Amino acid sequence: CGIVGVLGNHEVAPILVESLKRLEYRGYDSAGIATLNDGKLDRRRAVGKLVNLSDTLVHNPLAGKSGIGHTRWATHGAPSVTNAHPHQAGAVAVVHNGIIENFRELRAELAEHGANFVTETDTETVALLTQHHMNQGADPVTAAKQTLARLEGAFALAFLFDGHDDLMIAARKGSPLAIGYGEGEMFVGSDAIALAPLTNKIAYLEEGDCAVITRTSVEITDQNGTLANRAVKTIEIDS
Ligand code: GLU
Repeated sequence: CGIVGVLGNHEVAPILVESLKRLEYRGYDSAGIATLNDGKLDRRRAVGKLVNLSDTLVHNPLAGKSGIGHTRWATHGAPSVTNAHPHQAGAVAVVHNGIIENFRELRAELAEHGANFVTETDTETVALLTQHHMNQGADPVTAAKQTLARLEGAFALAFLFDGHDDLMIAARKGSPLAIGYGEGEMFVGSDAIALAPLTNKIAYLEEGDCAVITRTSVEITDQNGTLANRAVKTIEIDS
């Protein structure tokens, strides 16, 4: 339902939770964040309000300066900690808004390759498929793009990868996603409102766009894989 992502220069967990709070108005049943802590993915998730996620983080803090966060409105799989995003498969963590319509078909394919499903969600197939492509030798960017080419339905997605502290991939088809440009930091949000305290320089992804993001660069390709320019606008939102 709500997505945020940060490649930052400060401890990111509180920033992610604060940004997710700005998306609360959309409603949700559970929430979670993943960060790269010393290059290793780690997650915290909780059912119910964001205060429950904050409580979890008090007892089990999550360090790191790169992270993704999500508020979930369940479509496939009951609201539970296991089904809450971010979903992780091996070296891949992903948050997702929308529905992957062909996830059953993808699940069947992945099952043939021995994939290990731990959730009932459509989203988990995105992480597993990307990890599958990496198992076959693809680097993270190639693997994510191979996965995106297979997905049907409506989605906004943000990916992080183990061992890649300066990489986030964002993609949009049917669900909005904005990129926020900072000073040596980059952000993504399903709504620019989520990013208002962080930056007012925003570019909106268009249908079928995929963005490869580092702290100092954003490379956007369109639905044909062609490099695309998306205007960065200075917007006025009360933070
Ligand atoms: N379809 C996904 C799920 O049920 C994402 C739902 C959402 O947009 O929050 O987990």
